[in-house]
Amino acid sequence: MFNHYNPHEIRDRARAAFIGMAIGDALGATVEFMTSSEIAAKYGTFKEIIGGGWLRLKPGQVTDDTQMALCIARAVISSQTWSLEAIAANFAAWLKSRPVDCGDTCRKGIRAYMLNGTLETPPNEWDAGNGAAMRMLPVALYSLPDRELLRKYALEQAHLTHNNPVSDAACLCLGEMLHLAICGAEKNRLRRQADGLAARFPTFAFEPYRGLASGYVVDTMQTVFHWFFRGRSFEECLVGTVNQGADADTTGAICGMLAGAYHGMEGIPQRWLKKMDRAVIAEIETVTERLVAASPAGRGY
Ligand code: MN
Ligand code: MN
Repeated sequence: MFNHYNPHEIRDRARAAFIGMAIGDALGATVEFMTSSEIAAKYGTFKEIIGGGWLRLKPGQVTDDTQMALCIARAVISSQTWSLEAIAANFAAWLKSRPVDCGDTCRKGIRAYMLNGTLETPPNEWDAGNGAAMRMLPVALYSLPDRELLRKYALEQAHLTHNNPVSDAACLCLGEMLHLAICGAEKNRLRRQADGLAARFPTFAFEPYRGLASGYVVDTMQTVFHWFFRGRSFEECLVGTVNQGADADTTGAICGMLAGAYHGMEGIPQRWLKKMDRAVIAEIETVTERLVAASPAGRGY
């Protein structure tokens, strides 16, 4: 895995993954909950960061996806260690700050922590939304490149709000793909990881693509895989993904982290980067640097 181990390249890919996630969130939020035919009728191909959407966002504004990932990043950095309690406290502070939106399952888990200090929500067959997967990037960065650490952190953070085997499988697969992509793996290696998930959980099979992009983590991951493997550039991956509509900010965020990690900073269109909320990008730059520096890979630099 680390034949081409290169600290400079790892930093570049990690930064592109986090910024790519925020871009996918801001781009997709405009068309969240629209159908692909409604998007086509209104925009042709939708490909600019213009804000609006059901949340009436400013151009470049991000939503819960990026914000919850930043909560995890802040908690780990300020604790200088992995602290589930600190992550839950950051989620609680964020929820109290009246965020622009918050998924129902996430809200339920955060409320349970605020009321009872609960750090693990009970197993629930209905909690198979994408809310745990969408905040996997800081977990992948901080555990880089240790798969055992990734597994522990991924499941712990997921179970704050989502305790479900399908969600868990998606989180772990996504985390492993992020590790691989950030370390410079080729697309066929990433493809093997996605195919492995579909072998263990056939529901994730994404070919032929069914065109569903809902917040159900299976639909979300099928959409991300389909467009990530098909796209030849960061832009193609994201435009294909968000034009499916439905949970477009979250499919955009997850595809953005993978495509960012794979294509690196050079692949991110300047016209999109310029539209982004500058304070968010500045914080992303700082936390990415610190998470990677504190990871097993970073401590070995
Ligand atoms: Mn969102
Ligand atoms: Mn969403």
